[in-house]
Amino acid sequence: MQAYFSRKICLTTRHGKHRALALPFRLGLGAELHVCDLDTDQLGTFSGEIHRMHEALETCRIKARMGMSASGLPIGIASEASFGPHPAMPMLAVGQELLIFLDLERDLCVLEQRLEWRTNYSQTLLESDDQLAPWLAQVKFPSHSVIARPATAQVGVLLKGLNTNESLADAISLCRAADPDGRVWLETDMRAHCNPTRMRSIRRLGISLVHRLRSPCPECGSPGWGLLETKPGLPCSDCGTATELTLSEIWGCQQCGARRAQPRRDGRLQADPGQCPWCNP
Ligand SMILES: [Zn+2]
Ligand SMILES: [Zn+2]
Repeated sequence: MQAYFSRKICLTTRHGKHRALALPFRLGLGAELHVCDLDTDQLGTFSGEIHRMHEALETCRIKARMGMSASGLPIGIASEASFGPHPAMPMLAVGQELLIFLDLERDLCVLEQRLEWRTNYSQTLLESDDQLAPWLAQVKFPSHSVIARPATAQVGVLLKGLNTNESLADAISLCRAADPDGRVWLETDMRAHCNPTRMRSIRRLGISLVHRLRSPCPECGSPGWGLLETKPGLPCSDCGTATELTLSEIWGCQQCGARRAQPRRDGRLQADPGQCPWCNP
């Protein structure tokens, strides 16, 4: 796929995402990333809930366009994520990661997304100091930074990027003093440069996007042919009941709207009765 060979692609980021994305774009497309360091916080920071898809997508698109106008480059990428409880399994934290690719010359917009189960996303109200060590171990502190604020959000104190015992202890005393009830709220800092787990998710997303861009659409020839969605319904090997497992994959082009259903890439035709709602309710 020669479409982007030796082209410059603008990456709008404040948080070092080129560390995750530069390599897949160089190796996969022969393209170089040009980092555009813009303040995108005005577009909103992590809200603690999974956004509706179109909101996150719109933010991502605006972010990419900001960098492209600032740098004058016609091709750009930007990423966006939100974190929160899984919609169906509230005890489980998940991330929704998006990466958008815009090419004004081709009038092309290609989206890559994934629901990321590997995340340290967590929040806690620090009632006593006994809670601190187990929570810090769970969120992989200090390799992963945390954020502290007084439990009463209106106070307006917020300390981000804490990654040493000293800075965290100072932040906790400061927040405790600032809170009317002396209570402290802690949460994981999900910004990419503060969170190696998230940086790895962005790398995986970048690799998928590059694979997609390397695949031309069989109908219109534009870059970006790939998996769009999966259809459940793989039949049980015992009774034939349709299960929740993937039956087929829908591949398509986000440019011309071409779509093709194809069987699972792993060739599996039947589900284990253990995953059947009839055999194993
Ligand atoms: Zn069955
Ligand atoms: Zn097409």
